[in-house]
Amino acid sequence: MILPIVKEPNPILHQKAIRVTKMTAEIKKLIADMIETMHAAPGVGLAANQVGSRLNLLVASADGVKGKELVLLNAVIKKQTGKALCPEGCLSLPGISSKVHRATEVVVEALAPTMEPVIVEAADLMAQILQHETDHLQGHLYVERLSFWKKKRLLLKYQGLPA
Ligand SMILES: [Zn+2]
Repeated sequence: MILPIVKEPNPILHQKAIRVTKMTAEIKKLIADMIETMHAAPGVGLAANQVGSRLNLLVASADGVKGKELVLLNAVIKKQTGKALCPEGCLSLPGISSKVHRATEVVVEALAPTMEPVIVEAADLMAQILQHETDHLQGHLYVERLSFWKKKRLLLKYQGLPA
C-alpha cells in the first residue's frame, strides 16, 4: 500500500524516532508499505517518520532495484570518512533541493528486519542516503545542514510553492 508522505512543517519530522525492540506483523507491513511508497514516489530512501510512524526504521534503494532494498532498524552511523558536496532533495520538502556536505563513506550499526545486528559499510549515493535517513530519524532535515541564509532562502522558496 502506498502511504501518504508527511511534508514539512509536520512536527513528526522534528521528533526523534523510538527504538524498535521487537519485530511484529504491523512493522513488517509498515516495511513493505514504505518500500512500495519509496519506489512509487520515486525516491531512493524513506524514514518511518516520513510516513507518520515514530519507529526507528529506514528503507533505502540507491539503484531502484525492487527486492534489493536495504531495510535497517535503529541505525546509527559509527564512522564517516571522506567529504563531498552532494545534490540532495527530500520527499518531505518537495520542489526544492540543494547541495549538502556529506561523508562519502559510512559505517552503520543497525538491526536487520530479522532483528539480528548488522554492520553496513556504504559509499557514495548509499552513504548519502543513510546520512539523510538517519538525520530524519533524529528529527533533522537536510536543510538544517545548510548555512543560515541558504536554509532561509530555500525554506522561503518551499513555502512560496503551491501546495
Ligand atoms: Zn528526506
